[in-house]
Amino acid sequence: MSNKATPGAERRPGRRPVPRVVRTRAELREALAAAPRPLGLVPTMGALHEGHASLIRRAQMESATVLVTIFVNPRQFNETTDFEKYPRDKAADLRLAGSAGADLLWIPSVEDVYPAGFQTNVHVGRLTEPLEGAARPGHLEGVTTVVAILLTLAGAEKAFFGQKDAQQLLVIRRMAGDLGLATEIVACPIVREADGLAMSSRNVRLTPEERAAAPVLRRALLAARAAYDGGARDGAALRAAMGDVLATEPLATPEYVSCADPATLRELATIEGPALLSMAVRFGGVRLIDNELLAGGQ
Ligand code: AMP
Repeated sequence: MSNKATPGAERRPGRRPVPRVVRTRAELREALAAAPRPLGLVPTMGALHEGHASLIRRAQMESATVLVTIFVNPRQFNETTDFEKYPRDKAADLRLAGSAGADLLWIPSVEDVYPAGFQTNVHVGRLTEPLEGAARPGHLEGVTTVVAILLTLAGAEKAFFGQKDAQQLLVIRRMAGDLGLATEIVACPIVREADGLAMSSRNVRLTPEERAAAPVLRRALLAARAAYDGGARDGAALRAAMGDVLATEPLATPEYVSCADPATLRELATIEGPALLSMAVRFGGVRLIDNELLAGGQ
C-alpha cells in the first residue's frame, strides 16, 4: 500500500508498489482499517483494459487509497454462455491495476460476496425498465445488488463508474441516493480504441471480421450527433439516422437504438434539452453497447 499523505500525490516513477490482494470480507475489513483516507472504489469484472485504467487513475487523483474490485458477478449475466465465456486473466489484471494506481485489489469468491443463504435483491424501479433492462432481464438487478454490497463493505468516500454503461451509472446513482449510501458516485468518460470502438472486455471475443465492423456503433452515434448539430430535434429522425448507419454493416444485428431523456430514459419525441443516444448491437455471440450524450442547451 502507498503512503501517500495527500490525495492525488504522485507516486515516484519506477517505485510502484504491487497492489495487495484481499479475498474475504474479514481480510478486506482488516486492510481498510489501516488504509489512508479518502478511499476510492473502482468496481470491475476484470479483463482490465484502458477504460478501467482511466477509472483507476481518476480514483488515484481523488483518493489516498484506491480499492479495485474484480468480481465476475454471476447474478448480472442473463446468458450462461456470456458468463462462461467472459474473459478472465488475473495476472494481467494485477499488472494493469497496479500500474494504473490501485493500492488494494479485492478479488472475492462468489461465497465472499453472497454468503450462504443469501436472499436479498436490490431492485430499482422505472429506470431499469427500458434499454438494457428490457433487453437483458435481471441484469440490472444483478448489478444493483452486487454494487450495493460492494459499496456497503468498502465504505468508500467515492466510487468511480464509466459513462460507457450509461444506464447502469444512472441506476447506481439512483440506488445510492435512495438508500442513503455514503459513497459519492463519480462518472468517468468513455475510453475508445483509435478507430472509435468503445473499449470493452468483450471486444477480444470478436472475430477479426467482426472487430473490423464494430466501429459502426461509433459511426452511427456520430451520424446522429451530426444531424443534431445540424438542427435536427426529432427523436425518431435521430433513431433512424443511427439505424441507417447500422444497416450498412451486414455483421451487425441491432438490439435497440434509443434517443432518450438522460434523466428518465424515456424515449424522446422532440429534443428540447439534453438527450442520450444509445444502442446495443450484436456481432455473432458478442453484444456491444455504446452511447453519446447530447448536452442540449443551444
Ligand atoms: P466492467 O468490468 O465491464 O463491469 O466495467 C467496470 C467499470 O468500468 C464500469 O464502471 C464500466 O462502465 C467501466 N468501463 C468499462 N469500459 C469502459 C470504457 N471503455 N470507458 C470507460 N469506462 C469503462
